[in-house]
Amino acid sequence: MKTLPPLPDLLTLYTHQKDALDAAYHRVMDSGWYILGKEVTAFEQEFAAFCGLQHCISVANGTDAVELALRAVGVERGDRVITVSHTAVATVAAIERLGAQALLVDVDPQRYTMCPDSLAQCLEAETKQNSNVKAIVPVHIYGQCADMDAIMPLAQHYGCKIVEDCAQAHGAFLHGKIAGSMGHAAAFSFYPTKNLGAFGDGGAVLTPHADVAHNASLLRQYGWEKRYESTIVGVNSRLDELQAAFLRVRLQNLTTENSLRQDRAAQYCSLLTDTNVQLPHPARGCSHVYHLFVIQSQQRNALMQKLREAGITTAIHYPSPIHTQRTYRARLKLAPQGLPHTEALYERIVSLPLHPYLREVDVQQICECIQK
Ligand SMILES: *Cc1c(COP(=O)(O)O)cnc(C)c1O
Repeated sequence: MKTLPPLPDLLTLYTHQKDALDAAYHRVMDSGWYILGKEVTAFEQEFAAFCGLQHCISVANGTDAVELALRAVGVERGDRVITVSHTAVATVAAIERLGAQALLVDVDPQRYTMCPDSLAQCLEAETKQNSNVKAIVPVHIYGQCADMDAIMPLAQHYGCKIVEDCAQAHGAFLHGKIAGSMGHAAAFSFYPTKNLGAFGDGGAVLTPHADVAHNASLLRQYGWEKRYESTIVGVNSRLDELQAAFLRVRLQNLTTENSLRQDRAAQYCSLLTDTNVQLPHPARGCSHVYHLFVIQSQQRNALMQKLREAGITTAIHYPSPIHTQRTYRARLKLAPQGLPHTEALYERIVSLPLHPYLREVDVQQICECIQK
């Protein structure tokens, strides 16, 4: 069997839209304007419209988006922010960078997203200690929305803001609501491998609230209310014109590419039903956009080895939960009942190849290999 390309095939994404991307490149280069200009404004409007939201403030990457979204909704140094340990380290790094304390709760073992019971116990325990939980960051991991029906009432009850981490869920839906439209603000990453990816770094804060948008737009550029006049302390986190122009091209294909991902995911599921691997099963009302196709296997390492021998690249997202990593171990506070589901997952999860231009025959071959 021929060796498959590594999981997200970035060159294919380029070649697939080469003419439009090359035209975008020339348009920007010929314009003589390279940072925060027409392309950025147009992309912000187009992506806000795609998400059905009023405001999109582009930033330099997804980590900045999480940090600035939290600051824009009012989280400050010393506040506590609840998220999960089963996420990209960026989520926790962003919380800590603004000087907040991260509290980690468990995930649901089927859905892989924030477990509402663990969240409720954590909020209860924190309230008893009079601690100040300012915000909750549910992560829509792998392309499926967290259980917002259960999380939002808890946030409301305890007076917490919600910042959705949508870095893996561009275009995902929950009961007809698009990822990023359910909280006070949302953070997106446009890292090249994401469902909507640039050809470099990029990110955005989306929000339905004008005041949050205003804060975020000040924060991303030195706290400038207008040029050279800082009214708050901000950072430099700007999107450049080239990436914005590329993202406008990529955005036109997002819905199509998400449904290609869904088709391949469906093919995997039908071919693997009779095996002993545990397949993803989206929760009711969820439209999963399969940023990653993650299965669980009791013999995960052996399975990965066999696939590797057959030339098939797999990966683990992520190889160790954040709270077990050396730098974070001592610092992070965990939910009162610990994180048993999170810890159990790490021995069993594996991501199979999935990208929009993976062919049906590739999925067939991968499944044959797993069946063996
Ligand atoms: C990719 C990712 C981020 C961070 O995005 P960068 O653009 O790499 O900074 C944050 N959260 C999650 C869940 C991610 O997958």
